[in-house]
Amino acid sequence: MIYLDNNATTKPLPAVQAEMLEYLATKWANPSSAHSFGLEAKAGVDRARRAIADLVGTESGMVVFTGSATEANNTAILSAVRARPSRRQIVACATEHSAVLAMGQALEADGCKLVLVKPMATGIVNLAELSEVINPETALVSVMWANNETGVINPVAEIAALCRARAVPFHCDAVQAAGKIPIDLRSMPVDYLTLSAHKLHGPKGIGALVVASQAPFSPMHFGGHQENGRRGGTENVPAIMGFAKAASLALTDIATRASRVRELRDRLEQGILEAVAETVVYGMNAPRLPNTTNIGFNGIDSDTLVSLLDQRGICVSSGSACMSDSVAPSHVILAMTGSFQRASEAIRFSLSYLNSSEEIERAIAAVKDAVTYLR
Ligand code: PLP
Repeated sequence: MIYLDNNATTKPLPAVQAEMLEYLATKWANPSSAHSFGLEAKAGVDRARRAIADLVGTESGMVVFTGSATEANNTAILSAVRARPSRRQIVACATEHSAVLAMGQALEADGCKLVLVKPMATGIVNLAELSEVINPETALVSVMWANNETGVINPVAEIAALCRARAVPFHCDAVQAAGKIPIDLRSMPVDYLTLSAHKLHGPKGIGALVVASQAPFSPMHFGGHQENGRRGGTENVPAIMGFAKAASLALTDIATRASRVRELRDRLEQGILEAVAETVVYGMNAPRLPNTTNIGFNGIDSDTLVSLLDQRGICVSSGSACMSDSVAPSHVILAMTGSFQRASEAIRFSLSYLNSSEEIERAIAAVKDAVTYLR
């Protein structure tokens, strides 16, 4: 198997598995217990919180562990909306993940209005349009750091400054950016930042919401006083420890991993463009994550190509993993191109620094083979 679907999920590293096993098999106490066994687990969670804070350049007191990035995105939006009931407008980019879009749509039943700002052809959010739609009714602006389908990176510092100038809270889904490119919240006013462990070689089912001290917060889970009263429920300590281990390793190696994976991605992209006619790379002229390329194959249905590649042992995807079981074409490519056809011809290749050059050469040959067969 050649796994090129790392924006869907990544392989948990052996060091991550070992850390999790220790807290599953040996240090399995409840971190809220007052005895020393419990305090040992609590010390682990405290250390983990610092590791997550370090990954994004913030204080550990700002980090709230959640059961997923989906929950973190939902919580951020709900917090901002509940904090100011008079403000009913939620502004997001049309290329956001469904964990933002679906929450915004769900809140429309409660009288909110979700306003979607189009991206430019490059995939970058249109800042002029964003600035135009923000008004005194706006409860929150949600724009992702890097897109999960194209890897396109938004100008987060500018968006943060714009929101601060207009006194509107800013939420940023940094799930795909964290661990792949540097993030330093000390240099930009982001009110809510979402993270997920399983996109950076950690475990599934654990995420975090980083909440700035001035940002309003309203819990989604009521119960005990865990997470400083911000999320009730006994902490998933093994997953938290695995997340922290993955985050620390990613931070230490961020530059080496990025340059290695960029080289592999660039070779894959160039190899496919040379071997296969009538192809286009979405977001090519924008700043992009080093591991992602999204390629349109003219006249080829992406779901058919995904399954042909699967038969040849190559794992890729035709949109976000959460969408791939539905027949809807990619909403991201649709927003960028305005074309349903192009949105149903796009394939996402998302690499890891763990991929090898040999795998990339085999993938190029398999894509060429599959497209020749289909055409
Ligand atoms: N946000 C982005 C940008 C994602 O890519 C994903 C996962 O596909 C999510 C949120 C949801 O993450 P989780 O699986 O932790 O809920």
